[in-house]
Amino acid sequence: MKAHDGLYIDGAWRPAEGQDVIEVVNPADEQVIGRVPAGTALDVDTAVRAARAALPAWAATPPAERAARLAALRDVLAARKDEIAETVTAELGAPPQFAQTVHAGVPIAVAGTYAELAATHSFEEKVGNSTVLHEPIGVVGAITPWNYPLHQIVAKVAPALAAGCTLVLKPAEDTPLTAQLFAEAVHEAGVPAGVFNLVTGLGTVAGQALAEHPGVDLVSFTGSTAVGRQIGAVAGAAVKRVALELGGKSANVILPSADLAKAVNVGVANVMSNSGQTCSAWTRMLVHSDQYDEAVELATAAAAKYGERIGPVVSAKHQARVRGYIEKGISEGARLVVGGPESPREKGWFVSPTVFADVTPEITIAQEEIFGPVLTILRYEDEEDALRIANGTVYGLAGAVWAGDEAEAVAFARRMDTGQVDINGGRFNPLAPFGGYKQSGVGRELGAHGLTEYLQTKSLQF
Ligand code: NAP
Ligand code: MG
Repeated sequence: MKAHDGLYIDGAWRPAEGQDVIEVVNPADEQVIGRVPAGTALDVDTAVRAARAALPAWAATPPAERAARLAALRDVLAARKDEIAETVTAELGAPPQFAQTVHAGVPIAVAGTYAELAATHSFEEKVGNSTVLHEPIGVVGAITPWNYPLHQIVAKVAPALAAGCTLVLKPAEDTPLTAQLFAEAVHEAGVPAGVFNLVTGLGTVAGQALAEHPGVDLVSFTGSTAVGRQIGAVAGAAVKRVALELGGKSANVILPSADLAKAVNVGVANVMSNSGQTCSAWTRMLVHSDQYDEAVELATAAAAKYGERIGPVVSAKHQARVRGYIEKGISEGARLVVGGPESPREKGWFVSPTVFADVTPEITIAQEEIFGPVLTILRYEDEEDALRIANGTVYGLAGAVWAGDEAEAVAFARRMDTGQVDINGGRFNPLAPFGGYKQSGVGRELGAHGLTEYLQTKSLQF
């Protein structure tokens, strides 16, 4: 794994102002695999100036040319797919097959969608006697988490570039190597100097400096609700735009008419994939009381199968957090049916796939995001009860509904307070808007909705 000892600013790798470094560790074996600079406020300032200087020319670049750069970026990412997957496996611990198909495959697809949208989007429209121009917002400060390291970056950088914005990216401290690889790809794709800049560093130092920088016009943040709340407050005080993609506690609602075995098996897979570190994971399974015992049995068997296949969680700190929640589930009276807080291996930060039954809606593990391979199964008595439980958290990011009849599932989904619902196991769509109701966030990513986040309007009257 090659690590750059510089920051990518204004089209070149440059030394950071300070000497501090971040050690990158492989969570599967706890070995240090690289060191990257821990950028400071000074570095962030240099990067924001570079982005601001590059803005007028990039904003004036015809959309077709921006689309060509994005197509080139997609092609470079596709050509380096194996390297991307290996890097994500090394610094996040993702199993190789999952790293290939999801961690590398999805961002390549998303980059492709923005190559197309940049070319086809109407950056101008007529409204009566006005022409409305959709112009880039300006300099974007992007702050991303480690759970899908490349996807989270591409979901911000690709639409920002398509819109004509320039950026400074502060990636998660746990997964900076993927971000460095991405910066190389941007460079290879011929994106002009200063349009994209990378400052690796700590959230409380480089991240905070970026969120507070007066030269940033839009802060786009993905991460925890706690940090998102702070960033929203800072942006609000400065009257600048903010996009927040935050946590979730999504409900998987299995209606009595559904194919129970299918719904439970897909539901368990959804929670265990990526070791449960997915913001949209269906971590609350809602089952009718008549089918409850059967569902628990099915889920127990399905989760047990993941024991050997599951990767580690990202860090020792995160492992401790997840194990703390499992202990809390036991102490608050939920019934542990598989897994548990003990570490299943001597080395590496693993957590056993864990399932809790007899979970009541108010207890901690049914309310708070655990971000680990932990499924809670809740019982409901009728549809109104199911709806009340499904909508009964502060979050509203995703969800699922299963029913014998699609229309029945859709009718239920319409009443859910959440940004996405998969009907009877519907597939991921890289063009569908993704984002939260309630405290799961502000704004949407992906597709045309993701692009408009980076645009502001100007009306010309004739
Ligand atoms: P996090 O601590 O909020 O970190 C996210 C990013 O913000 C990281 O780059 C982090 O840097 C940075 N950061 C931390 N403190 C900051 C501050 N005071 N000012 C500015 N930036 C700061 O979240 P995480 O632990 O990395 O990720 C897990 C959480 O993210 C979960 O709650 C999950 O639900 C949420 N998430 C949401 C989505 C979504 O799309 N809705 C996607 C993925 C994750 P460091 O890496 O140095 O801490
Ligand atoms: Mg963090």
